[in-house]
Amino acid sequence: MDNILEVHNLVTAYQGKKGYIKAVDGVSFDVKRGETICIVGESGSGKSVTSMSIMRLVEFENGEILDGEIRYNQENLLHKSDEEMRQIRGSEISMIFQEPLTALNPVFTIGKQVTEAILFHHKMSKKKAMERAEELVRLVGISDPAARLKQYPHELSGGMRQRIMIAIALASEPKLLIADEPTTALDVTIEAQILELLRTLRRERNMSIMLITHDIGVAAEMADQIIIMYAGKIMEIAPTKDLFDQPLHPYSFGLLESVPKMDGERGVPLTSINGSIPSLHDVPKGCRFAPRCPFATEKCHQEEPPMEVKGNRQVACWHVDHLLEQNLLQNNSQKGGVTVDE
Ligand code: ATP
Ligand code: SF4
Ligand code: MG
Repeated sequence: MDNILEVHNLVTAYQGKKGYIKAVDGVSFDVKRGETICIVGESGSGKSVTSMSIMRLVEFENGEILDGEIRYNQENLLHKSDEEMRQIRGSEISMIFQEPLTALNPVFTIGKQVTEAILFHHKMSKKKAMERAEELVRLVGISDPAARLKQYPHELSGGMRQRIMIAIALASEPKLLIADEPTTALDVTIEAQILELLRTLRRERNMSIMLITHDIGVAAEMADQIIIMYAGKIMEIAPTKDLFDQPLHPYSFGLLESVPKMDGERGVPLTSINGSIPSLHDVPKGCRFAPRCPFATEKCHQEEPPMEVKGNRQVACWHVDHLLEQNLLQNNSQKGGVTVDE
């Protein structure tokens, strides 16, 4: 599989109230064609800023991409004009946002919003666009599309609205779909349906999906590869099964340990990792995870560990070999916490 997206050393900063912060600080990863990758990390780790950077939307929020490359089909998006980016957004890369209600315009019918998305990308009559809208809405699992298209956003449930957002994101037949916490606001049953829909779309359209979630259980179900982010940096990148078999980074280990058991409970805070993510105004010297890491040494507090390639994965930790030798990162799946689809 070749890469559809290659992010290299991305640095994105904001001018905040208390000064400049690097919300994403030297992030590199690839997404292959037809692959689903999940970015996982606690709140504030830079997941959304990474996706907004790829879409070049940070510029609209006082953000600035200071360094790096974002190559989509080998072309650096950072060299594209605003007009070129407008074409790419939507036609090649689409994004689903977390809050479906705020993302839909309350004063227009669903039909108008879906057909507008279609007409933005394809020249066709309004009638044809409406037919296409019905197809799309049916595709995302909504019955009686003709009736739904006449309704307004507030008349639909949260799950329905999120399906409509997915239909709009698919209107352009994107090659890469970025979904930023698409199910967080939804209940567990609807979440399962939306995730199943994404899986089907990926399979049928060979679409690449970049799914952002704070829920490692969702990542386990969906991802080929998982990217673990912490305080603006990537800690580990690994194929899903390998990560659950044996996390290599203490933070990944902590995340897996704190996965809620599969009894329907979810969204439980990460309780087994002590402390909280550092303020980006005051990033710890050395390894960013050191203040919370039970294995931190003096070196960890002084020097930042580089990202190292370990077989088919990457990890940024000084002591990974030692921790493995000593069996200190004993895996969670053996304890029955989470099952990973083979
Ligand atoms: P969550 O799980 O809560 O969505 P996240 O991993 O998506 O978290 P980001 O939204 O990417 O986190 O934010 C990373 C950091 O960047 C945070 O410290 C946040 O305060 C900061 N940040 C994000 N957007 C802005 C903005 N528009 N202006 C200033 N700072 C911002
Ligand atoms: Fe922990 Fe040190 Fe590894 Fe950071 S580098 S994760 S502090 S052991
Ligand atoms: Mg976010």
